[in-house]
Amino acid sequence: MSNLFDLTGKVALVTGANTGLGQAIAEALAAAGCNIAAAGRSPPNDTEAAVRALGRRFLTIEADLSDPGLAPSVVQACVDGLGAPDILVNNAGIIRRNDALEFTEDDWDAVMNVNLKSAFFLAQSAAKAMLAAGKGGKIINIASMLSFQGGIRVASYTASKSGIAGLTKLLANEWAAKGINVNAIAPGYFATNNTEVLRNDEGRSKEILGRIPAGRWGKASDLGGAAVFLASSASDYVHGTILPVDGGWLAR
Ligand code: NAD
Repeated sequence: MSNLFDLTGKVALVTGANTGLGQAIAEALAAAGCNIAAAGRSPPNDTEAAVRALGRRFLTIEADLSDPGLAPSVVQACVDGLGAPDILVNNAGIIRRNDALEFTEDDWDAVMNVNLKSAFFLAQSAAKAMLAAGKGGKIINIASMLSFQGGIRVASYTASKSGIAGLTKLLANEWAAKGINVNAIAPGYFATNNTEVLRNDEGRSKEILGRIPAGRWGKASDLGGAAVFLASSASDYVHGTILPVDGGWLAR
């Protein structure tokens, strides 16, 4: 049974692995055996130290994913440095907050480019590399509670995360028979940079906590198990699912 979760020697390409959820996912995958290629715009120094301390290889790929055109070169850098990816985690993401009546085109495009457009073209490039290497693979998109719910004052974020849920299902339909599993993790409310504004707002913070059956914000390390599951052969027959890791939020 333990072999089902073994990722020894697999190559995982993780975006936005320098901090928050991406860092925890990269570290969990490394603990399960993966070498890690970390793509992002900030140096992933802490993640690199943690992954190397586990005895795994680590590659930094500098890329500002607000430019979706970079996707092929990001995947090629992974292929050149560590080999074709076995696992892609589309984690990099941003959020912009404003009333829908005031929401700007810049706040729309910035979020959609990183959260949705880059994620799609990275999945496309990674799938091509997996197939060219004669293997299947695992693609894990990071969705959100706003893949299921509307949210408020985050129009482009909700559109991007609802879009990522749809795309996860579409890609699963097209690639399941090719041996590529495409799934998503939908984190609930986690204590990271992404939710700092909410946690600093006493009213909103109380409201949110009051609705979480687990009674606490998520810790980034709470996502590790779901990531290893969806990256491993334990999930070989799991396709197109959006797996909430939310302390029970959606059950309320
Ligand atoms: P975070 O702000 O700590 O991490 C975001 C990551 O994305 C960082 O590594 C950042 O460098 C990277 N990134 C942002 N813009 C980029 C760009 N242009 N190019 C390359 N990398 C870029 O926040 P987080 O909470 O760890 O967010 C990670 C993912 O989880 C995001 O997709 C976010 O939407 C999602 N998420 C977070 C929560 C939460 O409660 N924290 C809930 C649901 C979903």
